[in-house]
Amino acid sequence: MAFDLQKLLRPHIASLKPYSSARDEYTGKEGIFLDANENALGSVSEQPFNRYPDPYQSKLKEKLGAIKQVPPSNIFLGNGSDEAIDLLFRAFCRPGIDNVIIMPPTYGMYEVSAGINDVATKKVSLSPTFDMEVQNVLDAVDGNTKIIFICSPNNPSGNKIDRQAIYQILSKFDGLVVVDEAYIDFSDEPSFSLELSQYANLLVMQTLSKAWGLATLRLGMAFASLEIIGILNKIKPPYNISGLTQDTVLEAIGNTKQLEHMVKEILSQKEKLQLALEAIPEVEKVYPSSANFLLAKVPQANQAYQQLIDKKIIVRDRSKVQRCEDCLRITVGSEAENTQLINALKEVLRNITNKH
Ligand SMILES: *Cc1c(COP(=O)(O)O)cnc(C)c1O
Repeated sequence: MAFDLQKLLRPHIASLKPYSSARDEYTGKEGIFLDANENALGSVSEQPFNRYPDPYQSKLKEKLGAIKQVPPSNIFLGNGSDEAIDLLFRAFCRPGIDNVIIMPPTYGMYEVSAGINDVATKKVSLSPTFDMEVQNVLDAVDGNTKIIFICSPNNPSGNKIDRQAIYQILSKFDGLVVVDEAYIDFSDEPSFSLELSQYANLLVMQTLSKAWGLATLRLGMAFASLEIIGILNKIKPPYNISGLTQDTVLEAIGNTKQLEHMVKEILSQKEKLQLALEAIPEVEKVYPSSANFLLAKVPQANQAYQQLIDKKIIVRDRSKVQRCEDCLRITVGSEAENTQLINALKEVLRNITNKH
C-alpha cells in the first residue's frame, strides 16, 4: 500500500495533451502582440481590459505564497474553491465507477460536484459531537475510493476536526485527502499546508471568500505537491482567473492589517453572539465554533427561519441536514446586525413555543 498518483489519475487525463494558449507559448512581456486575436486598439471599457490575463497567475501566487508560506509552484488558483473541487473529480474520478468519501453534515458542494461528475459519494457521518470517526471512514474505503474530503473547521457545525485523526487518514488512505480550510483564518489551528512535504496525498484548500472578505472576486487556493498542482494546471480552463481578479487581489492582500483587524472583531462579536443566543431560554444548544458562524438548535427551526425572513433577517436553515435537525446556521454579522438578529429571534421563538 502506497500512494501512487499516476494510478489514482484517470488514464485519459494522464495521456491528455492540454490546450496551449498564446500566453503559454510566448511568455515575454515586450513586443507587438499579434498572437491571441485580442483587440489591439483598446477596450470599450476605460480600463485596459483588452489583453488576456496571465494563465498561471504568477505574480499573485508569489505574493500569496509569501503570506501562506507555501512555494508558488505548490499553489493552484481556482475560480473559487468550487473550481478546484470540480477539477479534482474530473482528474481522478471515473464517472459511474469511482467514489469519494464525505462526512455529513458538511459542505454541500462536495456532493453536488460529485453528482455533476456522476461520481458516487460514500457518506460516513461525523459523530453527534461532529467528530470524525476515523475507523468508520477507513472501513468505507474500497478499491475505487479516490478522494476523502475533510472540512476543518467544518461547515455547518463550526468545529475543527481533531488533528491526530486527520494524520491517521493521511497515513492510512492511499488516495487523495482534501482538507478544506475555508475557515482556517478564524481558527487557532495551524494550516495543514505546513504538512505538504510529509504527505504526498494531501491537498489543502483555502479561499479568499470568507475572512479576507473578497467573495465577489472568486479566488480559491489549493496547496499540494508539484505533481498534483501540475495535473490541475493541465486540465483547468486556460484563463480561469480574470485579470480584474488577479490585479485586485494582488493589491488587496497586502492589507494583512485589515484582515487581522476584521478577524479579531468577528471573533469578539462571535463570543457576544454565542452568549446572547445561549441566554434565549428557547435556544436548546449553541455548538462550539472555530469559524465565523454559529450552529444553534432551536424549536421548529424551519418555522423560525421563515419568520426571521419575514423580519428581513436571513440565516441558513440546516434543519433538513443529517445531525443538524432543528438547527440554524447563523453567520456572525456586525454588532448592529447581531443585535437585530438576537431581538428578532427572541420574538420568533417566543411566538413559536407559545403556539405549541
Ligand atoms: C465558503 C466555503 C468555501 C468557499 O468556496 P469559494 O468557492 O472559494 O467561495 C469552500 N469550502 C467551504 C467548506 C466553505 O464553507
